[in-house]
Amino acid sequence: MASKTHILALPFPLQGHINPMLQLCKTLITKDIRVTLVTTVSISSSLQVQASTTSNLINIETIPDSTPTSEGDIYQVFIDNFKESITQGLPRLIEKHKQSSYPLKAIVYDSVLPWALDIAHRLGLKGAVLFTQPCTVCSIFYHMKQGTLKIPTEDEGSVIMLPAMPPLRLKDLPSLLYDMGAYTSLLNLLIDQFSTYRNADWRLFNTFDKLEDEILRWIASESPILTIGPTIPPLHTDDNEYGLSLFKPDAEAYLKWLETKENSSVVYISFGSLITLGEKQMEEIARGLVESNCFFLWVVRASEESKLPRDFVSEKGLIVNWCSQLQVLAHPAVGCFVTHCGWNSTLEALSLGVPMVAMAQWTDQTTTAKLIADVWQIGIRTKADENDIVTKEEIAGSIKEIMQEERGNEIRRNARKWKQLAKEAINEGGSSHKSITEFAIQLSRS
Ligand code: UDP
Repeated sequence: MASKTHILALPFPLQGHINPMLQLCKTLITKDIRVTLVTTVSISSSLQVQASTTSNLINIETIPDSTPTSEGDIYQVFIDNFKESITQGLPRLIEKHKQSSYPLKAIVYDSVLPWALDIAHRLGLKGAVLFTQPCTVCSIFYHMKQGTLKIPTEDEGSVIMLPAMPPLRLKDLPSLLYDMGAYTSLLNLLIDQFSTYRNADWRLFNTFDKLEDEILRWIASESPILTIGPTIPPLHTDDNEYGLSLFKPDAEAYLKWLETKENSSVVYISFGSLITLGEKQMEEIARGLVESNCFFLWVVRASEESKLPRDFVSEKGLIVNWCSQLQVLAHPAVGCFVTHCGWNSTLEALSLGVPMVAMAQWTDQTTTAKLIADVWQIGIRTKADENDIVTKEEIAGSIKEIMQEERGNEIRRNARKWKQLAKEAINEGGSSHKSITEFAIQLSRS
């Protein structure tokens, strides 16, 4: 008679949220937990299943999309539609699985879906919340929720002091706090992560103890937490992909191209799955890469391609629409990562010891850039000009500093140190390994 513990996983349907949730689920599967991943029909139709072995063991269940009703910016509509579909369909799915031979015990849900906890509790399940941003960033939003962070109006000179955090300037905060633009929907989403925080049965953070030690201790003094990161697929196994992608990767010719390059000679550049850049910024990047005189592999998503400078070709560069970023970052030819500082990209580079040029664009990325450059010292943070453009000189100069100058050696030494510490955290007996094992044990007993 089957008695395996069964959980539902509910990721927020963006690549940067799906990846850590999926990796956590895959680790739980290896601990004999059955996992059903829940999403909507429309999201599921755009998911590409990759060849990874354990991801094939995750059962995906879909919920019909509700008729779109909300209005507002594209994020508001996206968030509301997802919430509406899931709140309507999830109770039925839970009831179905409660009757099955693998009775459901809990839901693991993304922190930006705090309402999922109420559904779980109402239907007799436990709830584990997964935070997919750095604990430092989460704590800033926690202070916003508590009303203990007042945003200064002036940038220059005003230093923000928060418990267990380095002194922060305005532009080190998540950008949505000082540059809201049209995105109040996203700001509310991030502050609301803490609306049901204390009631969650487990609070999981995709980070590791040594990486954010002080702030982790501070947040754990408010309510107990488990650090389970970095949630990176292990590269030395068959299961070396996350397993589900919203983007179709290019044919693997880029890996062959990397094979032809000397160690640490290539700059990898990607702005993740969401960022859209203006044409002027794209041009400065293109010119900066050429001016750096390094080989480069640049991910320009299909939807961004038309913004490349007309007829842009470089004999030293290769442009792809999407790649297996983990395989690229793990390749010995890659010596530097020009990144938008998304939390997954940052953790991947840190875990693989790749120095970064931190070219943060918005949301949590600005705070992560501060951590990369000033706290962990594994990269250089670019500065934008008065028109908010990072110029080609700034880009080329930052790349050269890492690839050719003395500062690069120091950054590489730090990168090697953090790579080792990340490995220790997830290896058998490490802090994150222990936390996930403990979580799996508690799930089976619940
Ligand atoms: N990624 C990828 N191939 C690419 C670009 C990105 O597989 O060509 C993955 C990357 O490894 C990371 C995720 O997409 O796991 C992006 O998440 P991140 O938090 O870095 O940024 P976001 O896309 O959420 O802004």
